[in-house]
Amino acid sequence: MISESTIKRIKEIIPEERLLWDEPMSRHTSFRIGGPAALLLQVNTEAELADVLTVLDTEESEYILVGNGSNLLVSDEGYPGIVLKLGGDFDTISQDEDDDCLVYVGAARLMSGVSSYLTERGLAGFEFASGIPGSIGGAAFMNAGAYGGEMKDIVESVRAMMVSKPFSPLILRNEDMEFGYRSSRAQVGDIIILSVTMRLKRGDRTEIAARVSELAAKRNDKQPVNYPSAGSTFKRPVGGFAAALIEEAGLKGYRVGGACVSEKHAGFVINEGGARCDDVLAVMRHVRATVYEKSGIMLEPEVRFVNCSL
Ligand SMILES: Cc1cc2nc3c(=O)[nH]c(=O)nc-3n(C[C@H](O)[C@H](O)[C@H](O)COP(=O)(O)OP(=O)(O)OC[C@H]3O[C@@H](n4cnc5c(N)ncnc54)[C@H](O)[C@@H]3O)c2cc1C
Repeated sequence: MISESTIKRIKEIIPEERLLWDEPMSRHTSFRIGGPAALLLQVNTEAELADVLTVLDTEESEYILVGNGSNLLVSDEGYPGIVLKLGGDFDTISQDEDDDCLVYVGAARLMSGVSSYLTERGLAGFEFASGIPGSIGGAAFMNAGAYGGEMKDIVESVRAMMVSKPFSPLILRNEDMEFGYRSSRAQVGDIIILSVTMRLKRGDRTEIAARVSELAAKRNDKQPVNYPSAGSTFKRPVGGFAAALIEEAGLKGYRVGGACVSEKHAGFVINEGGARCDDVLAVMRHVRATVYEKSGIMLEPEVRFVNCSL
């Protein structure tokens, strides 16, 4: 429930065309799953964000921030509060004028776009991330990684906004972000990432493009890219691989409703069509219990939950 006074104050900040009421979250998640958010709004500037956060703080309104929704499982009931998405000024990318290996990327910019920009300019180091279907903000939050690289390797610093008073921007250096395996200091939940400064290396444009193509082919070959999913469902456990443990437990193809452990890659739960959040949760619970029974390893979810839990 969003209070009348919250709605009134939000309308004074964000124009009507950027307010979506009862917006199905299935439109904003790569799983194509999720009931309606009471209100989804797009914030385009830092000033708007500070004003909106001030309202949400003083009104004690419930809210979440969503990037490209590629690591989210949202409840079938949806989300009763406000969903913030970044756009406008947050969807930018530029090179430092003096040091062309330093690149500033707005939090909403998608990884695919970042990859094209860097390839065109012959900047290397981001190839590992080119096929990750998230925003740069979500990638820094998750310390997303693939093919031997992770965001930690290329992030110079992060510009962020505190979600409590005085809502002022701050700079976090790489070490301040406390990057770990699929984790960062941002996961404490007290900041919103506004932009990421990355340090790349000068490279050969053709070689960079070739590496990006090679990794895209690997993804297409190994991953169920034709089905909606949130990527790897579980984190890699210490000393093993989630996909191998799931496959060894005989769970490939295990399904509940429209959700299924991918036959192509056991690390992915996919939406085969019409899957509900509850179907995915049921598959995940069964996978965890079975893998634990067979290997003694309890898999931890990589996917993040909105208004639902295992
Ligand atoms: C087909 C497929 C393949 C994938 N492959 C990989 C892979 O190889 N490696 C990998 O690591 N991941 C992979 N993923 C998972 C996903 O793409 C990454 O976790 C990605 O970084 C999530 O970014 P997002 O913008 O979609 O974030 P979302 O899913 O929207 O959000 C994830 C979390 O980040 C938070 N967040 C998002 N933006 C911000 C911000 N600006 N400030 C603060 N918090 C923020 C959200 O609140 C949420 O808690 C894959 C997913 C799919 C569907």
